[in-house]
Amino acid sequence: MAELTAETILAELRRIAAPDGRGNIVSAGLVSEIAVQNGQVMFALNTDPQHAKSMAQLQSFVQQAVEKIPGVKKALVALTAERPPQRAAAPQQGSPQALRSQGVPGVKYLIAVASGKGGVGKSTTAINLALGFKANGLRVAVLDADVYGPSMPKLFGIHDKPEASDKPGMRLKPMSRYGVEVASIGFLVDEATPMIWRGPMVMSALTQLLREVAWGETDVMVIDMPPGTGDAQLTLAQQTPLSGAVIVSTPQDLALIDARKGLNMFVKVNVPVLGLIENMSYFICDGCGKRHEIFGHGGARAEAKKLGLPFLGELPLDPLIRARSDSGEPIVVSEPASPHAATYREIAKTIWERLEQGAGAKPAPRIVIGD
Ligand code: ADP
Repeated sequence: MAELTAETILAELRRIAAPDGRGNIVSAGLVSEIAVQNGQVMFALNTDPQHAKSMAQLQSFVQQAVEKIPGVKKALVALTAERPPQRAAAPQQGSPQALRSQGVPGVKYLIAVASGKGGVGKSTTAINLALGFKANGLRVAVLDADVYGPSMPKLFGIHDKPEASDKPGMRLKPMSRYGVEVASIGFLVDEATPMIWRGPMVMSALTQLLREVAWGETDVMVIDMPPGTGDAQLTLAQQTPLSGAVIVSTPQDLALIDARKGLNMFVKVNVPVLGLIENMSYFICDGCGKRHEIFGHGGARAEAKKLGLPFLGELPLDPLIRARSDSGEPIVVSEPASPHAATYREIAKTIWERLEQGAGAKPAPRIVIGD
């Protein structure tokens, strides 16, 4: 079989008429750059909000057409508006504003767990927080949107692949572990193959996970965001119906500068920041039992205070947290009596209270931060 390339896909797309009847969708400039990797095809259809309704129909038609091309295993097609309309108007279906306000059926709150840079323990925090919500009696889902290193399958100890859903309009069933529903971008793409992700592509994959996974009734969906504040992250923050964001930071100054950038990104797109969590805050030595404040403990708490944001809590650097994560049995479920598990449950409780008090509905505080 000839190698599958973007040209092969384009040739097929040129056979599909543009909604306004003038030419095809490629010549009309509706098709974004196309990514092809291991039989997976991703691109966006640029949406004119005025034709949002017909674009939604076109989206599923295009997706099916691409999936029929020999060699294509999966197609991810997103609708994106490159630029929001100039004047504030009622959101139209399919536009970024509409995606943001549409909500996900059955899901009460979506919260993002974010960090300004990688390696600070964002995914570890996301999974333990999710399990903390669960331990507090809530119905919980986790969506792993960390395109640069989807780690939820590993952290949950999930090794098999999700099944197709038989619900109309849905493609996949979520996986389930520890009473929590899980879907990961790692289910859609090969985890071992690094990809260059651009905003529209991330949105395309995330939209599928949000809207084409048959999620059950959910109180809180925890989204593990990609680390950093680039184009992909901004698109996610802007176009996902988030009730709020939680920022994870280590106490190092550098990480705090990054955390501020993360915070700033959510403020910019009017997503309320629910608070900061300081991870790897201090270290308790196995040998001497002493508490070592290796990174200068307390930086995040002081920073949160300065910015007028809630400080949600701190977790030490503890090899046990790492070991439990590595073995797919996060500490909240494997060591529920540990002080760390109690901290995660407590933070989850605080976040839930803030959500229920309407933190998600209020505009974000106005904060001016110099980068
Ligand atoms: P991120 O999502 O920010 O890239 P991870 O959650 O993947 O970070 O964590 C990076 C590494 O640090 C992992 O090996 C994880 O087990 C470990 N880790 C995270 N938090 C802690 C902690 N509080 N104590 C010990 N190890 C931790």
